[in-house]
Amino acid sequence: MTALLEVRDIEKSFGGVQAVRGVSFDVRDGEILGVIGPNGSGKSTLFNCILGQLVPDRGSVRVNGRDVTGLRPSRLNRLGVSRTFQLLQVFPELTVRENLILAGQEHRGSRLSRLFGPRDAGLGAEADRMLDFFRLRRLEDETAGSLSYGQQKLLDAAMAFMSGSRLVLLDEPAGGVNLTMLADLRERLEAINRETGVTFVVIEHNMEFVMALCSRLIVLAEGRIIAEGAPADVRRDPLVIEAYLGH
Ligand code: ADP
Ligand code: MG
Repeated sequence: MTALLEVRDIEKSFGGVQAVRGVSFDVRDGEILGVIGPNGSGKSTLFNCILGQLVPDRGSVRVNGRDVTGLRPSRLNRLGVSRTFQLLQVFPELTVRENLILAGQEHRGSRLSRLFGPRDAGLGAEADRMLDFFRLRRLEDETAGSLSYGQQKLLDAAMAFMSGSRLVLLDEPAGGVNLTMLADLRERLEAINRETGVTFVVIEHNMEFVMALCSRLIVLAEGRIIAEGAPADVRRDPLVIEAYLGH
């Protein structure tokens, strides 16, 4: 069976810094894969190479068997691939609902959806689904900037799932989120995976969160994969323990 996402031998340097040094992995359709590793291990750079924010120096990225290496993010969005960034990307002046619709329009990238009002082309209905999925319904008319940080992170995640994204990459969705919201976020992500079959890859620092959410983990250190497998095994791996303690 072909993987939904195939990452092969990705390398990326910034001047003298080799941020990613030959990373390969597959993601199966419907899977929740976690990417962990100490600060500076290359996680965000790897995401940027997969999602077209950066062009890798070497290697390839395939989605559903199609070579998408170096394609711009807008092109990838239209192929059903989207992401969140490590830092919040919500529009504080817009309402929760407007943020969702805007994300949907951006993912489609169609001039048609920009020309017609926000309720066209099923985006309103999709926003409704996301409001329910992420339990943001009662906040739909609040401006995003008036939400708590945790609620904004929920909204940020919900935006990535707009417009039928089939593969979503989340960069530290739990970063800075308090414990109660954390459980909520994890549960919501599990629900959307279970009920819609959407695949995602999650970079996360919070070990408890990632261990509970993901069926498989890959561990990066200094730009390379040093371990890969079930969360319980990865956690016991001496190389992983050393990578974390060494920092
Ligand atoms: P992580 O997300 O795992 O914390 P990053 O991918 O952000 O790691 O960074 C990996 C390495 O690449 C770090 O040494 C970082 O300083 C460097 N790096 C990342 N982005 C840039 C950039 N735009 N310019 C120069 N160096 C960068
Ligand atoms: Mg990062």
